[in-house]
Order: sequence, then structure tokens, then C-alpha cells
Amino acid sequence: MKKSMKMKTTNDRKSYAELIKIENFEDRFKYLSLVGIVGETTFGGHRCLNQNLYQSEQWKRTRREVIFRDNGCDLSHKDYPIHGSIYIHHLNPITIDDILKDRPCVFDLNNLVCVSFKTHNAIHYGDEHLLAKKPIERKEKDTCLW
Ligand SMILES: [Zn+2]
Repeated sequence: MKKSMKMKTTNDRKSYAELIKIENFEDRFKYLSLVGIVGETTFGGHRCLNQNLYQSEQWKRTRREVIFRDNGCDLSHKDYPIHGSIYIHHLNPITIDDILKDRPCVFDLNNLVCVSFKTHNAIHYGDEHLLAKKPIERKEKDTCLW
């Protein structure tokens, strides 16, 4: 018998394959929410690495693939096309170590999804009310790698 007895916890790896099985946008958001999950230092604060990665051809190619796959929709939900900048979110946040050791999770399409700026903020910082608000204009960068 192969059935796993492991309980589902917030530490389980999230996946795109699992995400798109969820019909409802809000439930997708809840699935992705990182609020209250204390992990390793994420990579977002390390600007140099950040620059190197997202200016790389591999990242640009991966980004295009994600946008194409998700049809530019927020949380890849067909009823939520993104008007404005498209962010690429790592379902399982990547770490500096992941970048340095060139781990597959960095470019794994199963670890990536298109999000809007406000949804992205809500996933990381937990303000669900952001979801109901108008998009915040932000032009400086159109990707975020955390
Ligand atoms: Zn993110």
C-alpha cells in the first residue's frame, strides 16, 4: 500500500499542477499565500543576484513561457487577465542558495505562475483587501523573483 500518511502542512511544496486544479480565484490565492510562513532568507533582498538572474536569457525565456502558458492571467485564472505589469511568482520562494547552486526550482515552470502586482503583494504580505482594490501603478520593474 503506497498511500502516504503524511499530513498536509504549510511546509509542503506547492505546485502549479496543483494550483490549476483549484477552480476559484480566491482559493488559488489562499493556496499560494505565504503569510505566516517563516522560511529561509529569500532572495528578494539581494539586489545584485536579483539583477543577474532576471537579466539572464534563461530567465527571459522562462518568463515568456510562463506568460504564454498562463495567457497573461492572474494566478493563471482565465477570468482574471492582468492589465498592466505581469509579475512572475515562485510558488515556493527561492533562496540565494537555490540561485548559486543553480537548482531547478528557479526555472521550473511548475514553480512559477503569472500574478498581478496587487495579487503578488497579497501573497507575500497577506493583505487580502488588496485583491479588491484597484491595481497600483508600478512601472519600475515588471518582474519579481521572490
Ligand atoms: Zn513572489
